[in-house]
Amino acid sequence: MGKLEYVIDELVTGNRILAREGVVDSFGHISVRHPNNPQRFLLSRARAPDLIEPADVMEFALDGTPVDARGRAPYLERFIHGALYEARSDVNSVVHNHSESVIPFGASNKRIKPIFHMGASIGHEVPVWDSHDHFGDTSLLVENMDMGRDLAKLMGKGATALMRGHGATVAGRNIRHAVYISIYLEVNARLQQQAMQMGDVKFLTAGEVDNVIARTASFGINRAWENWCRRAGRPFHVE
Ligand SMILES: [Zn+2]
Repeated sequence: MGKLEYVIDELVTGNRILAREGVVDSFGHISVRHPNNPQRFLLSRARAPDLIEPADVMEFALDGTPVDARGRAPYLERFIHGALYEARSDVNSVVHNHSESVIPFGASNKRIKPIFHMGASIGHEVPVWDSHDHFGDTSLLVENMDMGRDLAKLMGKGATALMRGHGATVAGRNIRHAVYISIYLEVNARLQQQAMQMGDVKFLTAGEVDNVIARTASFGINRAWENWCRRAGRPFHVE
């Protein structure tokens, strides 16, 4: 398998895992920076993630323009991906989703914070991007580069951001890393809601978050990836 073919296969697997683990449903998407050209990224045509095949994967310029659409309709919200690749050379994979447990945090004054060690990868704070602040009444979808860049600016150097009334966006150093953070963002949000119903919550300290992130290397992520591949019915490639 060539490098591009391998990355596309990995992207298909990322889509299937996110669907299997409940992070995406009929909507939501994951992209990867093009392995041979950092000014391009790869993202499926507009299709439910659990159905995506290699032939669905399209190539885009960072401003969201399809390179060779061949009649395939792109996701409207591809600008989320392009704006993050444009702003961040450390980011090589982006997930955008509407996972259910995160939505209440974007719509309230309660912030998601790491509540257990697997949740540390979401970062110290999960900021909330409110499209209404700069764009007023919209359909809430990120439908142009101005909105994408505004979201990327709010994320700064972080791994995660919620989007008020909409969902979440995650940036990772590769596909497996972005999927890992996305799954644990959803789990953290679910557990945090449960804990808040029980009373005061003791979150991870800043030092604990730093220590866990420093230990979250490929070895642990690949262990999870192998398990998720099996659950999603996808082949596992050792990296
Ligand atoms: Zn969306």
